[in-house]
Amino acid sequence: MIPIAKPVLGAEEAAAASRAVLSGWVTQGPEVEAFEREWAAMVGAPHACAVSNCTTALHLALLVLGVKPGDEVITVSHSFIATANAVRYCGAEPVFVDIEPATFNIDPRRVEAAVTPRTTAILVVHQMGMPCDMAAIIAVAKKHGLKVVEDAACAIGSEIQWNGPWQKIGAPIGDIVCFSLHPRKVITTGDGGMLTTTNPDWDARFRLLRQHGMSVSDKTRHASNKVIFESYPVVGFNFRMTDPQAAIGREQLKRLPGIIGRRRELAARYAAKLRGVTHPHQPAWARSNWQSYCVRLPDGCDQVGIMQKLLDEGIATRRAIMCSHREAAYAGHPLPHPLAESERAQDTGIILPVYPQMTDAEQDGVIDALHRALAV
Ligand SMILES: *Cc1c(COP(=O)(O)O)cnc(C)c1O
Repeated sequence: MIPIAKPVLGAEEAAAASRAVLSGWVTQGPEVEAFEREWAAMVGAPHACAVSNCTTALHLALLVLGVKPGDEVITVSHSFIATANAVRYCGAEPVFVDIEPATFNIDPRRVEAAVTPRTTAILVVHQMGMPCDMAAIIAVAKKHGLKVVEDAACAIGSEIQWNGPWQKIGAPIGDIVCFSLHPRKVITTGDGGMLTTTNPDWDARFRLLRQHGMSVSDKTRHASNKVIFESYPVVGFNFRMTDPQAAIGREQLKRLPGIIGRRRELAARYAAKLRGVTHPHQPAWARSNWQSYCVRLPDGCDQVGIMQKLLDEGIATRRAIMCSHREAAYAGHPLPHPLAESERAQDTGIILPVYPQMTDAEQDGVIDALHRALAV
């Protein structure tokens, strides 16, 4: 059986989790602090704050930027539903715009047309690890005074060329960047999330809100030789990451270059060998981590039938990225902008297996099976 994805977890992660457990400090302690420092260094951001998952990261990012009931946030429907839900958690309305078919990313030309007096932020998604056209997004945001949040759930280790040099997604271009450490992403802590920003006040705010709005951290109290009391100036949340998770994450960071190197080799092999489909487009200024490799079947092709044929041969695939506006959770949601490309992408795309442990022979098996299914 060839799975769609497979996390790389070994004895190093098991030992790291054990170390954290045996230390006696098991939540939001020294391992989390070290993981945040190492994450900040990896992406090139001054601040990184760990949280429980990317959904809570998105929620905090929008709250800290001041998104509130009655506001509109321009984003894509064509994303995992957590993107749109995070806007809803703030009492604001997601305003869906369409994607560019070649990259599956938000179409910057459609963003400006969606700006209204109620718009406060743009929430872009580096979908399946492919960086968005941030230059075009930032230009619109500046012109209209809007904040920009980057949903980089899938984009750990992806790179973008920015004013000349290459940099990692997460070295802030927008205001705040949010990552996911779920096992379906590139590296994992079981569940987990990370926020990066250049703004120290926002970083302090994340830390306050992730821990019940508590003014003094556990670590500060633990280290204090004076009696101190905490206060609760705001209504916060419990969005903590635990120390065993962070310890695992630190081992995962060491593996990241190797994981991305192999994913890029596999993507290049699909691009070179697989016929009869449209391959994803990587702009000259982008380097994807290939969290997912999504191809488009020819128009009129039976998506489910092809997926079933592959499954019958022991090969797992997934339908392309969902459209949130088609789910019952968004029934009746106003859709003022066309979403034809988002729907077409969902209806004609399939995601093929890519994971670092995949051998060339296994991948050739997938390619051959797809050729047979497509009769090409
Ligand atoms: C996976 C994903 C999320 C949610 O991440 P969790 O860590 O599972 O909360 C959000 N946005 C996108 C684009 C995702 O792919």
